[in-house]
Amino acid sequence: MPATPGPFTLLYPEWIPGEHGPTGPIANLVGLKIQAAGNTVPWKRDSDNMFAFHMNVPAGATALDVAFDFISPPESGGFTSGSSTTTELAVLNWNQLLLYPQGSQPDAFQYQATLIVPNSWRFGTALPIQRESGNQIEFQPASLTTMVDSPVSAGAHYRTWALGDDHGTQHYLHVAADSDRALEASPELIGHFKDLVKEAGALFGAHHYRSYHFLYTLSDHVAHFGLEHHESSDDRTGERTLIDPDTLKATGYLLPHEFVHSWNGKYRRPAGLISGGHDGGYDTPMKGDLLWVYEGLTNYLGEVLAPRSGLWSSEDYRESLAETAAELDNKYGRTWRPLEDTAVAAQVLYESGSDYQSLRRSVDYYAEGSLIWLEADVLIRQMSKGSKTLDDFCKLFHGGTSGPPALKPYTFDDVVAALNTVQPYDWAGFLNLRLHSTQAHAPLGGIEHSGWKLTYDGVRSDFWKAREETRKVTDLTYSLGLLIANDDGTVADVRYGGPAQKAGLTPSVKLIAVNTRQYSPTVLREAIAKTATESKPIELLVKNGEFYQTVRVDYKGGERYPHLTRDTTTPDLLTAILAPAAKK
Ligand SMILES: [Zn+2]
Repeated sequence: MPATPGPFTLLYPEWIPGEHGPTGPIANLVGLKIQAAGNTVPWKRDSDNMFAFHMNVPAGATALDVAFDFISPPESGGFTSGSSTTTELAVLNWNQLLLYPQGSQPDAFQYQATLIVPNSWRFGTALPIQRESGNQIEFQPASLTTMVDSPVSAGAHYRTWALGDDHGTQHYLHVAADSDRALEASPELIGHFKDLVKEAGALFGAHHYRSYHFLYTLSDHVAHFGLEHHESSDDRTGERTLIDPDTLKATGYLLPHEFVHSWNGKYRRPAGLISGGHDGGYDTPMKGDLLWVYEGLTNYLGEVLAPRSGLWSSEDYRESLAETAAELDNKYGRTWRPLEDTAVAAQVLYESGSDYQSLRRSVDYYAEGSLIWLEADVLIRQMSKGSKTLDDFCKLFHGGTSGPPALKPYTFDDVVAALNTVQPYDWAGFLNLRLHSTQAHAPLGGIEHSGWKLTYDGVRSDFWKAREETRKVTDLTYSLGLLIANDDGTVADVRYGGPAQKAGLTPSVKLIAVNTRQYSPTVLREAIAKTATESKPIELLVKNGEFYQTVRVDYKGGERYPHLTRDTTTPDLLTAILAPAAKK
């Protein structure tokens, strides 16, 4: 890289866009060697900033040769710092594979990448290609911003589907999987992804990318998450997602969510989430206080686009929303921690465990964002007598003129102003109340005013079963207040204030027996079902560390799972919200 003689500092990207935290995997950067004109240039790591390397560029030198390796991690860590390779596939994020000079403008600094993949592997990316020969790919020069925003997926079992154009721009679904079988998506399913492109186009009215690439990685051995980019998304779920209806149902919101981020998160971004005052200054801490827009609105729109494009049925959407509403409505933590604090503390909450989530709260701005933006959508529809919807806000705030990636920062006041343009109301008051509340119950106005009610009964919906299957858990949160890992009966979480927690059960104990019979999910479910008619406590034998304990849980009421039930006294706006908007 070009350099000038004298003191010089190279940085490894620390604050990774979309991960909302200092997640750059610096511990996996190894073998760093720096040379100028063939001579070694010694480096010294900064003693405060672990991501900074200082050196002196010798007199007369105009460039540095910088070489290092990256240890691709096994199955640990979150987001892109987690496992990203198997013997059959790989996802490459360039931020893990480059250094950049301190003080350079990320948009001005150009990289030219070359990638060599194993023989016969295919690949996909939004990064434009200069030339390909054999298994070597040379990319066009791109700014640091574009490099970090343009991962590559590659693999031995790889298929690309063209999803069609919208306003003249092409969309692609690139799937890398651990087997050929996993690529056998039905034409009907691919049709839903094509409809997703049309529905997002109809929702926003314009787009901000040159072309769009879903990089969908299907493996049971990579970290599972979605990470948004301007012109692509890095989406990772289990190997059989496209051929197993349950896994698809449980993760049907994922691609819509990450696609929405191209508009809400990349094109429009909270000012505090743009590091260094310019996109790509990766050493400056991000401020997460507006994540209830960045992630919360994306969560809402992603969930709405799933039924609009056929990836979910309307019933799937309602069962998902019931689960969201129940989770937030039964969270003791909301009496001490306002929603906004979950956003401010995003960088620590992503890494917090699954234990005591109802007491700690989690990255609740996703789920509660869905409730708040649904309520805003319903209010706009009611106040405008059906002439306006939240789709109009999206066109105004995220649409504009189609073109290549651009970045338009916003503040809280900008959001309020745009809402007021669509439908005058005290939006600042509406939002502030929900962001700063420490009320015990969740804001369910959107559900109730759209003609539905949160109810509970003993029936596990297909959606609930699919979620349990995919997450490999037995979810008894709303009866005993237990979430149990299926592999060995370990309690992953207890609902704070629920019957099990009151009886003294804690996360991480292992269930051994239920009313003296060996534990299995079925044995426990049947014991819970009996409490509807019998009033004997459930006796649980648990292993807590090296010690066995008997715990009696006083609970009546049978199995309990959340649903949305139609309230016929109020018009059904929810079904209208889920109707496709694109012209067929
Ligand atoms: Zn997101």
